[in-house]
Amino acid sequence: MIKTDILIIGAGPSGLFAVFEAGLLKLKCHLIDALPQPGGQCSEIYPKKPIYDIPGFPEVLAGDLVTNLMEQIKPFEPGFTLGERAQTIDKQEDGSFIVTTNKGTKHHAPVVVIAGGLGSFEPRKPPIANITDFEDKGVAYIIREPEDYRDKKVVIAGGGDSALDWAIYLADVASEVSLVHRRNDFRGALDSVEKVEELSKIGKINLITNAEVTDLKGEEGLESVVITHKDSAREKEIKETDYFIPLFGLSPKLGPIADWGLQIEKNAIKVDNAYDYQTNIPGVYAIGDVNTYPGKLKLILCGFHEAAIMCQSAYQRIFPDKKYVMKYTTVSGVSGFDGSKKEAKKEVVKSIN
Ligand SMILES: Cc1cc2nc3c(=O)[nH]c(=O)nc-3n(C[C@H](O)[C@H](O)[C@H](O)COP(=O)(O)OP(=O)(O)OC[C@H]3O[C@@H](n4cnc5c(N)ncnc54)[C@H](O)[C@@H]3O)c2cc1C
Repeated sequence: MIKTDILIIGAGPSGLFAVFEAGLLKLKCHLIDALPQPGGQCSEIYPKKPIYDIPGFPEVLAGDLVTNLMEQIKPFEPGFTLGERAQTIDKQEDGSFIVTTNKGTKHHAPVVVIAGGLGSFEPRKPPIANITDFEDKGVAYIIREPEDYRDKKVVIAGGGDSALDWAIYLADVASEVSLVHRRNDFRGALDSVEKVEELSKIGKINLITNAEVTDLKGEEGLESVVITHKDSAREKEIKETDYFIPLFGLSPKLGPIADWGLQIEKNAIKVDNAYDYQTNIPGVYAIGDVNTYPGKLKLILCGFHEAAIMCQSAYQRIFPDKKYVMKYTTVSGVSGFDGSKKEAKKEVVKSIN
């Protein structure tokens, strides 16, 4: 049995930053994530994309943000159960919880924080009968490492931001990029659409609209895709390719958490945003993309804010008799559990005094 003060389900940016905020209060955290690596959507979906709205960072790659968060929480030595999905929660007589994963690992904590983002997410797959035969043999639903596509032929399908952005990015990496979309107009951002059209004009993207990939061909792995045009003049086209990447988004599923007796609204967990992001189960909080309340914004910076507020409440729940006085990190420093990793910045204290 793994024991901790705060058990965090989901090691995305919200869960990781919660470790930092809890660490400032000398609370120990353990994180569970279904994915094999921390970082949530930032690591899994768009590690190489720049983010522009993290305060203090004019631009930061999503993957670098995760690396920095991991560095920031290092002094607090969080525990990780990775590659396992939190499956069940059992409330104990003393009000604490035991959370068990799909692999049977048990975790015991007085406070549980759900930072599950989109939940256990699954990519939306196009209705191509033999697509599963080519998964990891030329078919990918997420671009993890763009360099894998260097000097290769790539067919991307989709009409949203992801498909447009990756087509633009890979136009400078792959030897040939085709973007197939079943309509003539795109759902994605206007400037991305314009950029794709410009790249199409100069021959860097082969833009194929009003058409769909309907079949995949290959012996050992993918060799070509069959594109069916909606306009009857060019009904079917076979395009040789090394990769087929349908980017139709992720279908968000809360997964097992949906059966925990929490109040759910539009696939998200309702929380008390007037106070502490606690759910309808006392001692269970929800922060980041997974929660909902009036005015909710699914942004990383909102998850960070919610993590800070949640930790204050969790502290009071764990130590009801102690009074916590908030200190700036410029005054308290960031010390580990043994208090020896980093000393308080005494010169700052001096300058304040
Ligand atoms: C392409 C793209 C671009 C984006 N750009 C921006 C941007 O520019 N700025 C911005 O602020 N936001 C952006 N976002 C949104 C941002 O990524 C999310 O707001 C953020 O990742 C939410 O963080 P989170 O920690 O709440 O959840 P997530 O990052 O979704 O992490 C949740 C984690 O919980 C895990 N999990 C879920 N259920 C379970 C379970 N039962 N057991 C174990 N683990 C579980 C998941 O595996 C996942 O790793 C973007 C999103 C995408 C897809």
